[in-house]
Amino acid sequence: MEISPANLALHYGQSIFEGLKATKRNGEPVLFRAGAHARRLNLSAERMCMPNFPEDLFLTGLKMLVDLDRDWIPAEDDHALYIRPMMFATDELFGVQPSKTYRFLIFTGPVGPYYPKPVKLWVEEVFTRASQGGAGEAKCAGNYGASLLPALRAKQNGYDQVMWMDAVEKKYVQEVGTMNLFFVIDGKVITPTTTGTILRGITRDSFLLLLKDWGYTVEDRLLSIAEITDAYWRGALQECFGAGTAAVVSHVSEITWRDRKLELPPVDAEHRPVATRLKTFFNGLRMGHEEDEHHWLMSCNDSGVWELVKDQSTVVA
Ligand SMILES: *Cc1c(COP(=O)(O)O)cnc(C)c1O
Repeated sequence: MEISPANLALHYGQSIFEGLKATKRNGEPVLFRAGAHARRLNLSAERMCMPNFPEDLFLTGLKMLVDLDRDWIPAEDDHALYIRPMMFATDELFGVQPSKTYRFLIFTGPVGPYYPKPVKLWVEEVFTRASQGGAGEAKCAGNYGASLLPALRAKQNGYDQVMWMDAVEKKYVQEVGTMNLFFVIDGKVITPTTTGTILRGITRDSFLLLLKDWGYTVEDRLLSIAEITDAYWRGALQECFGAGTAAVVSHVSEITWRDRKLELPPVDAEHRPVATRLKTFFNGLRMGHEEDEHHWLMSCNDSGVWELVKDQSTVVA
């Protein structure tokens, strides 16, 4: 691909993407909630003033590509073929305006575990990721560009990721890098609610559905850092983990807020039953040891229309 210096995406940021995975289930490639990813790409497109990409064409192309790339799908646990659909402006001119032409493409690559170790989080109160009315719900390139400096600073201070706070009061927990967050407090599973500034993760949505199926009390609501620290000092903060396609479940071992360091329970099945169950279920689903009751998987032979009807995701309702 050649690119012109006048390419509009480079200057004005009309560039969006998706990320999903293919694994082999009983030897056959399967995609996880591909229909929901097709739909979310179009939600991002709308926010960035880009055209919709037909969802049936997205799925047809995706299935053809994964079928061709099937030998690149690793068989090991926690490994997958990562799939990156993207769309960006291709007009070449000087003015700030929506491009009239775009390129949509999908490329893939085999990946191992994203965060092989538990992560240490820094509660970020200077920089913010997204504000009300902004583009926080869109999976657009600019959101990541703006997150790199705070992430680098956190890394230099010994943390793996920043935990974003809301942009107004710096009081409510948002999310982390490429993941949504879950907390287990007093036996209840709590995740910050998506009010326009948090990316509506498909993993997050799947976890909420599964946890409800399994009988957990699940709360999708505003969650303040004060509530988390209070729970910690009471001994009621049982688990914290990130949820996203890249890592599926990523255990959090430490949260630092100002000069206070919260050290979370050891990362093992006994201390982290909720995260462990979710992770085990997801791996099992991908490998074929678990039933696909929610119709989340699509094989390369399924008709795209079938999947769009079956996967009525709440994430992109
Ligand atoms: C992609 C992404 C997530 C996770 O979404 P999934 O659909 O679960 O992969 C979370 N936060 C941000 C900022 C993201 O870009």
